[in-house]
Amino acid sequence: MTIYEELGIRPIINASATLTRLGGSLMPPEVVQAMVDASKVFIDLEELQAKVGDKIAELTHNDACYVSSGAAAGIAVAIAACVTGKNTAAIHQLPDTTGLKNEVIVHKSHRNGYDHAVRQVGVKLVEIGYATSTAPWQLEAAINEHTAAIIWFQGAMTGHGDMPLAKVIEIADAHGVPVIVDAAAQVPPVENLWNFTKLGATAAIFSGGKDLRGPQSSGLVLGKRELIEAMRLNGPPNHSIGRPMKVGKEELCGALAAVRHYLSIDHEGRLSQTEEIVGGWCGELNRLPGVSAQRSWPNEAGQPMPRAQVHIDAAKAGISRNEVMAALLAGTPAITVAGGPDESIFLNPMTLEDGEETVVLERLVAVLQKK
Ligand SMILES: *Cc1c(COP(=O)(O)O)cnc(C)c1O
Repeated sequence: MTIYEELGIRPIINASATLTRLGGSLMPPEVVQAMVDASKVFIDLEELQAKVGDKIAELTHNDACYVSSGAAAGIAVAIAACVTGKNTAAIHQLPDTTGLKNEVIVHKSHRNGYDHAVRQVGVKLVEIGYATSTAPWQLEAAINEHTAAIIWFQGAMTGHGDMPLAKVIEIADAHGVPVIVDAAAQVPPVENLWNFTKLGATAAIFSGGKDLRGPQSSGLVLGKRELIEAMRLNGPPNHSIGRPMKVGKEELCGALAAVRHYLSIDHEGRLSQTEEIVGGWCGELNRLPGVSAQRSWPNEAGQPMPRAQVHIDAAKAGISRNEVMAALLAGTPAITVAGGPDESIFLNPMTLEDGEETVVLERLVAVLQKK
């Protein structure tokens, strides 16, 4: 009996995305093994954090790396490091930012739930720009002696009218202000592990529990050594804002194994495999009355990966989009998919285990045919 069976937890086939509420992603055996190995021996945690970080930095062509307990924790500790540097008194003072740099600039168009990770450090967000655009003068005007950092959220929230990240970095550099990029869901492509920092970002932050398939409670902060060293001081085991965001030896070793595994994947082969799955789904689903399926690109996180978008015309199909989604989730096995615009659902092959693409298709066809 598995632990989930014992607890009465239903397994779910995830055809949606790497979502925290579904458990993030599934770890490959070598990541699990690294965590098991790490669990058996006492070590010096600060030394392990530094050595794992240096190894990940080397593998990803970065200056330095801090392993956090998730991308959101990475944001919080990175912002803390921007405020305090290596000043012990300032580190102990947070989240009280009296007398410290306490403003973080954000594009209005980027505001999203994860900006809580910035605010919890005790800083205030200073918005620049409009709902869908920003101009360089607006950033220039917002920078002052209180500015601790600029946070840039990369993903679906990045506005089409925003000035390019390169321009933000250019202006920030001229004022000596760090630029922190939240790139939590920005792999694939794998090159993004170094693209943002090559562009000049002070740090780029990735979730370990999404496509990297590391421990769900892990994240990578890749960037300049000065910032990463200040982060280590703001993180566990030190008494600091990051102390409750503990990263264990198992997560540290698991994150390293995940990076190694991710760099070893045949990413082109994986892409053509997902294309094949999406093409196969669309071909079969388009045979059904009231159903129209097309390849959709890029996916919800802006990753260069295909999904199938399946429109359901309730009048012709005899079942509505919401009823289809509910039936998939209520069925055995339970399957979760993402809702899309215009009475559609998205089917994502990226989070499926081998063979599950067939299960998803068969269940969806059966639901649509009300069998
Ligand atoms: C998923 C996500 C996060 C949080 O990542 P965790 O590793 O779950 O903490 C932060 N920012 C963005 C844009 C995300 O998509």
